[in-house]
Amino acid sequence: MLLYSKSTRLSSSALTKALIGFITLVGLSLILATVWQMTQSRRERVDSTKTEVSNIVRAAEQQAQDTFRQADNTLRDLIERVEHDGLALDQRTRLKKLMARSVENVEGIQALFIYDAQGNWIVSSFPQNTPAKNNSDRAYFAYHREHTDESIHIGSIVESRTTGDKVIPISRRINAPDGTFAGVALATVPVDYFQTFFERMDVDDKGVIFLALNNGDLLARRPTLAALMTTNLAKGDIFSLYLSKADSGTAVIQSVVDGVERIYAYRRVAGLPIVVAAGVSCEHVFAPWWAYAWRSMAMIGLIIAALGLLGMLLYRQIQQLMTAERELNVARGDLEVIAQTDSLTLMANRRCFDTALQKEWARAGRNNSSLAIILLDIDWFKQYNDHYGHLQGDECLKQVARVIGSSVNRASDLAARYGGEEFVVLLPETDLAGAMSIAEKIRLSIVDALIEHSASPIGNLTISSGVVAISATRNSPYRAALEEVDRLLYSAKTKGRNRVEGRSIQASAAPSSSRGVAPLTLDVIAPVNTH
Ligand code: GH3
Ligand code: MG
Ligand code: MG
Repeated sequence: MLLYSKSTRLSSSALTKALIGFITLVGLSLILATVWQMTQSRRERVDSTKTEVSNIVRAAEQQAQDTFRQADNTLRDLIERVEHDGLALDQRTRLKKLMARSVENVEGIQALFIYDAQGNWIVSSFPQNTPAKNNSDRAYFAYHREHTDESIHIGSIVESRTTGDKVIPISRRINAPDGTFAGVALATVPVDYFQTFFERMDVDDKGVIFLALNNGDLLARRPTLAALMTTNLAKGDIFSLYLSKADSGTAVIQSVVDGVERIYAYRRVAGLPIVVAAGVSCEHVFAPWWAYAWRSMAMIGLIIAALGLLGMLLYRQIQQLMTAERELNVARGDLEVIAQTDSLTLMANRRCFDTALQKEWARAGRNNSSLAIILLDIDWFKQYNDHYGHLQGDECLKQVARVIGSSVNRASDLAARYGGEEFVVLLPETDLAGAMSIAEKIRLSIVDALIEHSASPIGNLTISSGVVAISATRNSPYRAALEEVDRLLYSAKTKGRNRVEGRSIQASAAPSSSRGVAPLTLDVIAPVNTH
C-alpha cells in the first residue's frame, strides 16, 4: 500500500531540511533533558551540602556554647566568692586552689585570673611561683572598667603573657560593695581548643570552620591563619550581607580571606556575642558532579555524532533514491515516446494512432463535429523491394513518411505508420473535401518526389488512398469506419492505383447485436475519387 502519494511527497530540499530538523530536534531534546537533569542533580547536591554544613555549624555552636557557658559559670562562682568573702590573703589561697581545680575540671579553660581595679593579678590558677603581671592594658579590662554591666564579655584573641598561647579572654566585672569597679575575673580558652575540635569535623581540605565575634574578629579557624589575631571578617559577605538579615542560614560565597568559593552555613550563637560558620569548597562539592557532567556530555556528544552520521547515511540514501526515481521517470518518458513511435520512420505508430483515434472519435461525438481518416498504401511496393532490395525499401518508406508528415500541418492532425507500407492520417474536425484535398496533396507530393520505381508500370513511386469523413460519431464504434476506409483504399487499388477514393459517411449507433457488438451503420453521403 502506498503511504503517500507523489503529490504529498517532500521535495529533495524540504526532505533535507526535515531530516536536519529532525536530527536537530532529537539532539536538542537530548541536550535539554541532560541539562535539566544536571541542573537538578546540581541543586540536590547544593541542598544536601547545605544540610551537611548546617549540621557542622550546629555541632560547633553547641561546643562553643558549652565551653563559654562553663567558663562563665566558673567566673560567676569566683566573683560571688570575691564579692562575698573579699580578697584577704587566706581567702586568696583558697581561691587559688579553687581556680586551679576548676581549670582542671572544666574542659577548655586554660587559666583563671582575678585582677584588682588597677589591673594587677590578685589571684590566678597558675602555680605560686608564676610572676604576677598587670593586665590593665587589655581591651577586656578597659571594657569592664568603663561598663557597669555584669554580663559575660568575650574579647578578641590575645597572646597569653604567661604561656604565650593564643587565647580567647572571657571576663566579668567585679564590683565593690558600693558598686564601683573593683576588678575583673578572667577565664582564658585557648584558640587551639576550638581548632582541635574543628579538625575533627568533616569538611574538605579547602573547607573552613570558624568562630568569630559579632564584630567580625576571628576567634578560631580551620585551617588556621598566621594572621588569625588580626583578621576581621566584618567586610565579608556573611557579616555584611547575611547576618544583618538573619541570625542563621546558608549561602554560596567567595571567601574574603582566601578567595575560595564555598557553600556556607552560618549561625549566631544564642545568648553569646559570637558567630559560627562552616563552608565546604564548591570545588569539592561539584567534583563528582563535574565528572558525571563530563561523562554525560561525552555520551550526548557521541549520540549526536551517531545521529548525524545516521542522518548523513539516510540523506545519501534518499538522494540516491530520488536520483534513481528521476532517471526512472526520464526512462519512462522515453519509453512512452518509444512506445508511440515507429522506429523506422520515426513518425507516430499504430498504437499512437489508435489512442488518438479513440480520443478524437469521442471528442467529435461530444462536439457533433466531423472527423476524417486517410489510409495510404504504396503501390507495387512488393515489387519495389524485390527490385531494389529491402534496405532501399526501408529508405523509400522513410522518404514517403517525410512527404506525408510535411503535408499534415494542423497540431491536432496526426500522421502515423499504420503497418508495412501503409500509412494513416487522422484529421479531426475535417470534412470530406478537406480530407480529399490533403490526400490528393500527398499523392501529388509523392509523384512530384519522383522516387524511381522501375518495377511499377508508371516508372516512379505512387501511392493510393482511401478517405472517409465521418459525422455524428456519438455512441458509435469507429471500427466500421476503419473497415470502410480500408475498402476505399482497396477500391483505389482496383481502380488502377495512384488515386484517392473518398466517402463521407454518417455514423450512428445501432441496437446491440446478439454478439454484444454495436455495428456501425454507414450512410454514404458523397462518394468521391481522384486521379
Ligand atoms: P499494392 O500496390 O496492391 O499495394 O501492392 P504491394 O506490393 O504494395 O502490396 P503487398 O501487400 O503485396 O506488399 C507489401 C510489401 O511491403 C510486402 C513487404 O515486403 C513490404 N513491406 C512491408 N513492410 C516493410 C518494411 O518495413 N520495409 C520494407 N522494405 N518493406 C516492407
Ligand atoms: Mg499494402
Ligand atoms: Mg502496397
